Amino acid sequence: MIIPDYHIHTNRCGHARGQMQEYVEEARNKGCKEIGFSDHLPMYWLPSNFRDPGLAMQESDFPVYIKNVLDLGRTTQSLSIRLGVEVDYVSGWDKNVSQIISSHPFDYVIGSIHFIEGWAFDNPHRLAEYNHRNLEEVYEKYFNLLCEAAASGLFDIIAHPDLIKKFGFRLTNPPLRLYRQAAVAFAKAGVCVEVNTAGLRVSAKEIYPSHEFLRMCRIEGVPVVTGSDAHDPGLVGAGFDEALLLLKEAGYHEVTFFKERQRQVVKF
Ligand code: ZN
Ligand code: FE
Ligand code: FE
Ligand code: ZN
Repeated sequence: MIIPDYHIHTNRCGHARGQMQEYVEEARNKGCKEIGFSDHLPMYWLPSNFRDPGLAMQESDFPVYIKNVLDLGRTTQSLSIRLGVEVDYVSGWDKNVSQIISSHPFDYVIGSIHFIEGWAFDNPHRLAEYNHRNLEEVYEKYFNLLCEAAASGLFDIIAHPDLIKKFGFRLTNPPLRLYRQAAVAFAKAGVCVEVNTAGLRVSAKEIYPSHEFLRMCRIEGVPVVTGSDAHDPGLVGAGFDEALLLLKEAGYHEVTFFKERQRQVVKF
């Protein structure tokens, strides 16, 4: 597999299974040249007793996570292992995030929107909330946060950019205006957009982002990064054939590699 898988979780985050070594084996078996771990950053914006151990690793695990990824990278010969992290973007916490990020030698930092005003809209346990909401407003709010996350300058990559479609709650017409607004914001901020295959495995039944959204990113000149969002070792590189097809359809012929937060664009 030529394209890297930069979005991988492990059992450390409380809702994925498998240890890092199992993910590495799977990647090796699939012929990956490069992968990166991107476990969820501890829920920094909440007091420690309010943090859900099923959503992200504990504060005390964080230095261990970093050390383990770096060690694994040093001792693994057959493929390159990068140190990433998936960070929830929460309005008003930029300074805290910036401080955490700059204290560790990440190869890349992924920014994600998983919360709208405290509502974990992608959590299956919070599904009922959709019944009490105006979907147009939800989409609007989601995309505003997405643009804000890009503009924060904290992240190299914006994850699963239309995650709001996860459970199949869709607007009557695809929100092209919101897609364009986001693509423009990504370009302006200089962030990469993630092509994330996890969407294939949920009700959305479609890679994040949609074809129309990715096409707009291409038009705006936004670089892409690829990720499976594996929460199980067997899912490393899952759906990457579809991802390559989608990328080509949208006009992409290259993906971005990261090392020490520096980019390299590689043709496929
Ligand atoms: Zn996760
Ligand atoms: Fe995520
Ligand atoms: Fe993830
Ligand atoms: Zn994710």
